[in-house]
Amino acid sequence: MEKDNLKFERASHVILTSHKNQIYKEIPSVNWGAKTAKERGPIVATISEKDNRNAIGTHSGSYTVYRALSIAKGEFPADHKSDLHNTEATAQIGPYPSWTDPEKIVSIDPWGGEVQKVFKEEIDKGLDVRPTIAVTQAQLQLPEIKEAMREGRLKADGKIVKENGDVAVTKIALEPVWFLPGIAKRLNISEGELRKILFNETGGMFPELVTRPDLHVLLPPIGSTTAYIFGNPADLANPEVELSCRVHDECNGSDVFGSDICTCRPYLTYGIEHAAATAQKGGVGLIVYFRKEGRALGEVTKFLVYNARKRQVGGDSALNYFKRTECVAGVEDARFQELMPDILHYLGVQKIHNLHSMSNMKYDAITGSGIEVVNRISIPKELIPADAQVEIEAKKAAGYFTEEEIKDGDGLQGVQGRKLDE
Ligand SMILES: [Zn+2]
Repeated sequence: MEKDNLKFERASHVILTSHKNQIYKEIPSVNWGAKTAKERGPIVATISEKDNRNAIGTHSGSYTVYRALSIAKGEFPADHKSDLHNTEATAQIGPYPSWTDPEKIVSIDPWGGEVQKVFKEEIDKGLDVRPTIAVTQAQLQLPEIKEAMREGRLKADGKIVKENGDVAVTKIALEPVWFLPGIAKRLNISEGELRKILFNETGGMFPELVTRPDLHVLLPPIGSTTAYIFGNPADLANPEVELSCRVHDECNGSDVFGSDICTCRPYLTYGIEHAAATAQKGGVGLIVYFRKEGRALGEVTKFLVYNARKRQVGGDSALNYFKRTECVAGVEDARFQELMPDILHYLGVQKIHNLHSMSNMKYDAITGSGIEVVNRISIPKELIPADAQVEIEAKKAAGYFTEEEIKDGDGLQGVQGRKLDE
């Protein structure tokens, strides 16, 4: 398409979603939790399908804003329709009974990984249905895995772990698709209240939250989630097969850059090592990576908290660890874990033999959703960086799972972090 055409289209007019022509049109119905994909119906959230949209928001989470900028620059044709040829999943996931339980999964679309297949007829007729889940293969190259091999903890088997230390995985990207009545129920509030708060607290970003009570699905502008599977993905749904799992919340500073103030990367790579080792002995491993940076408070808040911790009277201590976050952010932790188990249910998980997490919020959410947890695995002492002792001791004192000694009072004050100028 010519760039000039794009500019013309872009500048033409804006249709408000509260405009009466936009309301209660004949749109494909969504029956969340229905017994088959056909009965559930496709989620149509593409902007190019204004008349058929049965969801609020659009695809790609927060990246939709970059898409808008790209269109604004005239580089991206606004009416582009994806050619989905050859994009199908490399491994079959489900369907599992949890997919058709309207309460087990409320924050992702379980059929979102196979719209190419289950909604082929609709797509062939011209409906712009996009996948919200993608499944592919990858090889991981991690220095910690090579170190584990050098130290003899992990050995090459040629299939899961190669001679050169590469680890074979299936990886799955999942975009959030929220069924608002189900989300409201999880949070124990009414759908109306949830919609009003989402509308107000995003600066009125999605008017349909208040103008379109007939639409119950929201694709929120938040980060996606990635699952890494070691071994056969179908084994995740077999409670007889040993499963080692870490549910990890993003921490860019540690995960990617190796910052030593917390235990995030060492806990993550320990989880990966254990996941690979479990797969090697006939089990299956799973790492789920959630984009909830800085306890879902964001990196700016997180760095402000680091400074407040390091500059407080008496220095950075485990005693005041949570207090400093609350002073700056208004809350100790904004992650809430109520929606986290949805991905486990999408993968058919019924039993986790080894759960790599010390968080009671995560443990309670998983077991509360009906998944059995056998062992809880805390991070081994020798993997904790010196400056991260403040975090780990504070967490243990706050009730995080540990088999080790829990400090209090003076003991916690005595666990000191590095000063800003050290
Ligand atoms: Zn961290």
